[in-house]
Amino acid sequence: MSAAETRTARPAISPPDTAPLVEIEGLGRVFDLSKRWLNRVLDGSGKVMLTAVDGVSLSIERGGTYALVGESGSGKSTIAKMVVGLLPPTSGSVHIAGADIWAERGLARQRQLHRRIQMIFQDPYASLNPRWRVGSILAEPIKAFGLAADAAAREARVGELLSLVGLDPRDSAKFPHEFSGGQRQRIAIARALASEPEFIVCDEPTSALDVSVQAQVLNLLRDLQQRLGLTYLFISHNLAVVRHMATRVGVLYLGRLVEEAPARELFAAPKHPYTKMLLDAVPDIGMEGVERPSIAGEIPNPINPPSGCHFHPRCPHVMPQCRTVVPPSYAVGDAKVLCHLYDGTDHAGTARSAP
Ligand code: SF4
Repeated sequence: MSAAETRTARPAISPPDTAPLVEIEGLGRVFDLSKRWLNRVLDGSGKVMLTAVDGVSLSIERGGTYALVGESGSGKSTIAKMVVGLLPPTSGSVHIAGADIWAERGLARQRQLHRRIQMIFQDPYASLNPRWRVGSILAEPIKAFGLAADAAAREARVGELLSLVGLDPRDSAKFPHEFSGGQRQRIAIARALASEPEFIVCDEPTSALDVSVQAQVLNLLRDLQQRLGLTYLFISHNLAVVRHMATRVGVLYLGRLVEEAPARELFAAPKHPYTKMLLDAVPDIGMEGVERPSIAGEIPNPINPPSGCHFHPRCPHVMPQCRTVVPPSYAVGDAKVLCHLYDGTDHAGTARSAP
């Protein structure tokens, strides 16, 4: 193994540390969508608040992939932004390797923390500066974080990063528009790796790509995870993609984490009625031509969500208490489920059907 390979293959995390790398506790984000004060006074309207994320708690083991799934408007991307430090939470905390990213004081500490956390966005073209050559795009974080001794070392590292994502080191002289969508996402991945992070948030990283290249990019992400010891938070609305990537899955509905479980368990035995509905709508390989049930009903307006369990207007098992009481989190095996069906009492006869 060459010196360059030794450097890229080095795990970013020391093996004996078994504590979760990422710990999110009671995370919440409320947006104030109100008109200006004077306009509210003139037309007699009140404040309009949107709770995009409501008390989300989860942890991500080192080297694992935690997938957050849900329909659009469920709060996935808002959580991603709070986790990488782009959007401050209204409540709760995000700890990465024991450091509270929203409480850290001091520029040096914050820079060090942000070097360790990177994000890959949905649209690789929008996230790459079209006026910069690929070499400059990749060299910028290396320079900013002082990760190479001089220009020659920086150039060598850029070539190494391009090789790592399956591109040619000579591609550093080209501009982003000279690449296909899949290649541009590889460049975005290389840029994320340039700061030598240990945690990467992948926000729908393949949803803007042709189906034919999606699997290649997902396989690359998995390969890089194994080689570099990376930890991922993977945001997706696509359960087939999540199944391919995740070690643990969290299902979001209107800002609340309604179910979370090891991926294998969630796909084999989903518990929450919403998770079951999502999985029932996923096309099965080998069942082409068979009509799948679509997800029933529309996601309600998040500005005025349903009382009690937000899912109750769409739920086939709805019970009287679902309309008024917010379900707590129940432990069911290795899963956590926000649903009154799991409160330990026998609901046969009260629910339209048992879980
Ligand atoms: Fe359905 Fe009630 Fe469970 Fe909500 S709490 S998912 S409405 S059974």
